[in-house]
Amino acid sequence: MRLSRYFLPVLKETPSDAHIVSHRLMLRAGMIRQAAAGIYSWLPLGFKVLRRLEDIVHQEQIRAGHDPMLMPTLQSADLWRESGRYDDYGEEMLRITDRHGHDMLYGPTNEELITDIFRNSVQSYKQLPLTLYHIQWKFRDERRPRFGVMRGREFFMKDGYNFDIDKAAAMHAYNRHMVSYLRTYERMGLKAIPMRADSGPIGGDDTHEFLVLADTGESEVFYDKRILDLSLGERAVDYDDWDQCAAIKQEWTTPYARTDETHDAALFDAIPEEYRMTSRGIEVGQIFYFGTKYSEPMNARVTNADGDLVPVHMGSHGIGVSRLVGAIIEASHDDNGIIWPEAVTPFKVGIVNLKQGDSEADSACEALYKELTAKGLEPLYDDREERAGGKFATMDLIGLPWRITVGPRGLKNGVVELTSRRTGESREMVPAEAIAELEAIYSEV
Ligand code: ATP
Ligand code: MG
Repeated sequence: MRLSRYFLPVLKETPSDAHIVSHRLMLRAGMIRQAAAGIYSWLPLGFKVLRRLEDIVHQEQIRAGHDPMLMPTLQSADLWRESGRYDDYGEEMLRITDRHGHDMLYGPTNEELITDIFRNSVQSYKQLPLTLYHIQWKFRDERRPRFGVMRGREFFMKDGYNFDIDKAAAMHAYNRHMVSYLRTYERMGLKAIPMRADSGPIGGDDTHEFLVLADTGESEVFYDKRILDLSLGERAVDYDDWDQCAAIKQEWTTPYARTDETHDAALFDAIPEEYRMTSRGIEVGQIFYFGTKYSEPMNARVTNADGDLVPVHMGSHGIGVSRLVGAIIEASHDDNGIIWPEAVTPFKVGIVNLKQGDSEADSACEALYKELTAKGLEPLYDDREERAGGKFATMDLIGLPWRITVGPRGLKNGVVELTSRRTGESREMVPAEAIAELEAIYSEV
């Protein structure tokens, strides 16, 4: 992409109504614009990142054996009356009446709709296990939408639902989701810690929230520092292997990690002091086992191996895809702007032409642009007639992890400069070497 033709409305001024760094940077970098309180348009740069995250979520869900689908944003109120949640959900639910007087709502979540789809098509345990998910816009009329996309009213969420014959099978689905979520966040370059969360009136301890540590997080969290050393890394995971998934869950749930809702001071104090950590965190996902909470009232039953009709055991699992864009920025930025992890960056490399109009500089940039594009190393070429300082500031603000700087002085010796956004380190090399280096870096992402 050529910057001269790209819609990237960066702001020079810091927006005064944005109180946290990710919100400020997303506005300044031309990623989003507010349409109404807690509702945003995603401009091209922001949309690209959102799509990157969506792709990673899809890939990891499909790898775990879950089926992608798409349910609508608008739902009929009738199903929610069946589960009893139409009245319980309260003012967060956006209620709409259509021209025929039918009560509708903009979905805040989809347990009812998916249970309805399930009960109309599945009758036997032989059709289980089944996990269906979609990535779709949700609406919750939050009392205090704030922090940009972190707490919006309209937000983009992956929500998945497992259907299993009994609790043991449903707990495997729970463990499988935990593993696939760990992998998803790791691939995004994030450390998200599963923390025991409050399961509310349903009881049991079968819910975990995934939190990214950040000073601006809304939750207070308590954890054993040693949990930060855990990583899935390259290990091969067989998502059908109950024991392996259970062992990985065990590994991540053994060190103490809880939100303030479930915090137990006595347990926490038993951890050696040097490992005891208190900080703030951003909830980027949650997994939940809730048994027959929806299948009983909504009559979603299947025959088991003995021929008895039994309610299915279910769980639901969510990832805040649009919130993650903000969370990644909270976790990865500096005074000059965003620093994208390679896995989610909107463009893989920026090309800065220090002397637009200079025939040698222009043709070197064009050649780089062509070759990077051909190799799938999506460049953003700043081909505008602007001074170098302004070009560098824009690149730093939008946070591409790598930059190639091309100028007449270097070209005299046949070299360009490859700069890391994260470390600021620059090295001179011939263009072919810069391309080879980027190829190597991105082949590992
Ligand atoms: P919160 O406690 O932050 O209000 P929640 O627990 O009500 O969130 P879930 O129903 O668990 O949310 O939704 C799954 C994920 O969707 C959350 O982990 C979060 O990442 C994201 N999410 C929830 N509400 C919002 C929102 N208002 N704006 C952006 N993302 C959200
Ligand atoms: Mg939650």
